[in-house]
Amino acid sequence: MHEMAICCALVEAVGAELARRGGGQVETVRMSIGALQGIEPDLLISAFALLSEDTAMAGAALAITRRPARLQCRTCKGERAADRHFHCASCGGTEVSLLPGKGMTLDEIILRH
Ligand SMILES: [Zn+2]
Repeated sequence: MHEMAICCALVEAVGAELARRGGGQVETVRMSIGALQGIEPDLLISAFALLSEDTAMAGAALAITRRPARLQCRTCKGERAADRHFHCASCGGTEVSLLPGKGMTLDEIILRH
């Protein structure tokens, strides 16, 4: 399960950041994922709830932002949001490169006060 593996990495990253800050209880974790990662945010949230049990992240909210991938036309250099039509919206060219909104990033950890 893809989401579980990503969530393990996320919980690890948050744990490491918490240790660096000297601990605390997490209220919200904000992250971004690229649109082409094939991740279901709902599954990620349930995986997070499961994996964060018995940690300083227990009960924390996971806020996920999806970053859309972009297509860039090699002919006219036009850019647009990628969908399943891999051609240029301006000139109709099919020589397009994918500019991925790729990977996942941990954006912010909000602690309880
Ligand atoms: Zn074009």
